[in-house]
Amino acid sequence: MSTARIASPEAQATDRREIVRLAADFARKEIAPRVADYDLAEQMPRDLLDEMGRLGFFGGVIPEELGGLGLDYDIFAELIEEVSKTCQILGTFVSMPSGLVGSALQAFGTPEQQDRWLRPLAAGEIFGAAGVTEPGSGSDVAAMTTTYRRDGDDYVITGAKAWISNLDIAEFVLTFASSDRSLRHRGITAFVIPRDTPGLGLHPYKNKLGFRPICTGEVVLDEVRVGPDAVLGVEGQGFHVAMNAVERGRLGVAARAVGVAQACLEDSREYARSRVAFGQPISNFQIVQSKITDMAVGVTTARLLVRECATALQTGSRARELTSMAKMYASDVAARSASDAVQIHGAAGVSPEYRVGRMYRDAKVLQIVEGSNDLHRALIGEMELGLRGDGEIKSAT
Ligand SMILES: Cc1cc2nc3c(=O)[nH]c(=O)nc-3n(C[C@H](O)[C@H](O)[C@H](O)COP(=O)(O)OP(=O)(O)OC[C@H]3O[C@@H](n4cnc5c(N)ncnc54)[C@H](O)[C@@H]3O)c2cc1C
Repeated sequence: MSTARIASPEAQATDRREIVRLAADFARKEIAPRVADYDLAEQMPRDLLDEMGRLGFFGGVIPEELGGLGLDYDIFAELIEEVSKTCQILGTFVSMPSGLVGSALQAFGTPEQQDRWLRPLAAGEIFGAAGVTEPGSGSDVAAMTTTYRRDGDDYVITGAKAWISNLDIAEFVLTFASSDRSLRHRGITAFVIPRDTPGLGLHPYKNKLGFRPICTGEVVLDEVRVGPDAVLGVEGQGFHVAMNAVERGRLGVAARAVGVAQACLEDSREYARSRVAFGQPISNFQIVQSKITDMAVGVTTARLLVRECATALQTGSRARELTSMAKMYASDVAARSASDAVQIHGAAGVSPEYRVGRMYRDAKVLQIVEGSNDLHRALIGEMELGLRGDGEIKSAT
């Protein structure tokens, strides 16, 4: 593969956006020719991930002293968007070490935990999974039924997590269990569990509607015994660890959604100009133009919201409301843009020869992951009305 090694700190200083250009080049040459095949096969090619790791694409906002690239959040969001235009699942891989899987390790990990898990994650040498959702609770995280008990210095965890991504390649699962369910979120502790720990069972689902190349499934914890070195952060503070992970993760989902919407806009413009119906390009029809208008306005405003969110996160703010807004709004824009893009393509839109069908399937899932959009709608309303403070918690992956 020909793309040059990216983003030394010096290169970033002279041209902060070089990494985004290199991602565009990599996506065009290496990802685009393969994405339809690996989406169909439900298998992300490991060599592609390894090459992206080697090139440094997974270093994200993780500080350089912890092995990352130390990107600013706005550049990080642009990088995710650029990759996601071609494959939003690879956008997930770019975002995960800085988001759902890695950000809690950065914020709460001991130096030993960071050396063992975060550095190799940032370097793309290993991958991880974050297990929050359970078969009986998704939005309502504090209702989790996975529990743990102390046995001497050890912790023994029993329960199950559902819909957990990266099961085929994760070297560890960051997950959560309660010591006493009546304590709700105050009883939860975060654990980093190595893949080969006895009692940990990983069971992938097959034939998902969207997000097909990422391996998602059930994590069963059957009397999983870990030592104190597996506890991430303070015992009983696991809910805050989980919220830290998902809030940064939501910027990534929003940036991926912008990438999907942008791709739908570009493909729809091109198709509308070339497809002829009733003796003229379909771009002459106002109803087609109107869909293009909605896509252009949607993608532009969603991108602005992502930037606003990136600016807030850059200051160290939790940006709870903004991350909810960006996640909800951008994924709604992506879903509507993808639906309109398939419409503009007519029958071609449902053919695997065109990527808008894949975008349509993935965009629907973007409205569900890392907090269902209905939940974000409720959260934003409650925050606007002063019904919810930072410490008051009801939800939500
Ligand atoms: C492909 C894929 C990958 C995933 N990867 C991961 C992962 O890596 N790690 C992980 O932990 N999870 C993962 N998830 C799970 C995802 O985060 C959850 O599906 C999501 O949080 C929603 O939870 P749920 O599916 O249990 O829906 P539920 O909580 O059962 O909600 C169902 C619906 O009820 C409504 N609803 C619920 N609560 C409210 C409310 N308060 N206000 C208004 N409406 C509400 C909404 O319409 C919502 O969509 C993944 C899911 C998918 C599909």
